[in-house]
Amino acid sequence: MRDRRGPLDVALRAVRAASRACRAVQQRMVRPETLQKRDKSPVTVADFASQAIVCALLEAELPGDPIVGEESAKALREDAQSALRAAVVERVSEQLGFAADADAVLAWIDRGNAEARGRRYWTLDPIDGTKGFLRGEQYAVALALIEDGEVVLGVLGCPNLPGADGGVGALFAALLGEGATQRPLWDDAVRPRPISVGDLTRAAEARFCESVESEHSDQGESARVAELLGIRREPYRIDSQCKYAAVARDDASIYLRLPTRADYREKIWDHAAGSLLVEAAGGVVTDVEGRPLDFTRGRTLEGNRGVVATGGSIHDEVLDAVRRARAERGAAPAGGR
Ligand code: AMP
Ligand code: MG
Repeated sequence: MRDRRGPLDVALRAVRAASRACRAVQQRMVRPETLQKRDKSPVTVADFASQAIVCALLEAELPGDPIVGEESAKALREDAQSALRAAVVERVSEQLGFAADADAVLAWIDRGNAEARGRRYWTLDPIDGTKGFLRGEQYAVALALIEDGEVVLGVLGCPNLPGADGGVGALFAALLGEGATQRPLWDDAVRPRPISVGDLTRAAEARFCESVESEHSDQGESARVAELLGIRREPYRIDSQCKYAAVARDDASIYLRLPTRADYREKIWDHAAGSLLVEAAGGVVTDVEGRPLDFTRGRTLEGNRGVVATGGSIHDEVLDAVRRARAERGAAPAGGR
């Protein structure tokens, strides 16, 4: 087996530094009224800073590796965006420990615009769960390495998720074939601990998690799935790939992401790190039809619809209920309902 501990170390450092930048922005800029004012500047600053930091640290250690990130620096280059640009440069400099210049920061962000093709590339969601970030709730920095169309390494930084130590902030790591771990996000002296999915054999006892945002996952349909399975517990609604982390460490037994529109295609950076985390913790991840997630098709999961992740033993039972619920409602027509 290839030794991926070197790249994993780099990824852990990069996600930690990016998570610190995001936390600083959330603490300083996100207010209770931020969402009502439709002010997206906090998430914009944090998104760009996070991508710049991860790309800068990967470039320094693994200069040949392409990075497929969600953001492009195009908007940030416009003259009208000078205040935003300055705020990004400040956050990046703070984390890198030196005064970075604006052009270097823009170039790092653009390093994250590689095509999703070739034998080896990274994929990055600098802030997954932007709505959660703006609500002052959950979000994640998600970084994964894809080799020959397979996710082989995944790291998730979850700044607001309770950690195993009782503190807030959890850092998750997974290597293909080598298990999954969690450790405190802010303290790099604490050793990682293995995590594993639960071994529930009856879905009726399960707690399932899903998106807070009803546009991202059909909450009416998930309620019907829960009913078919005999689940009485309330859904655990949480933004971002924190849902995969919840299943991987057995805070929940099921993650349902049920399509709200027939034409939506899931993005690789929204699922690469999280899906490997669940699989490496012993669980199973498929789409709503039971197909494995296919990372060979570029920037999107073109061949998949939605996501179902479980600890494994109840997976077929859950898929069966999902199929029945979808059949009852009729498949969503192209272009949405
Ligand atoms: P979550 O926090 O799990 O609700 O998911 C956040 C992610 O949902 C974002 O990163 C978006 O890429 C993605 N997203 C945006 N629109 C949709 C949609 N219509 N269906 C599913 N996911 C979406
Ligand atoms: Mg995302």
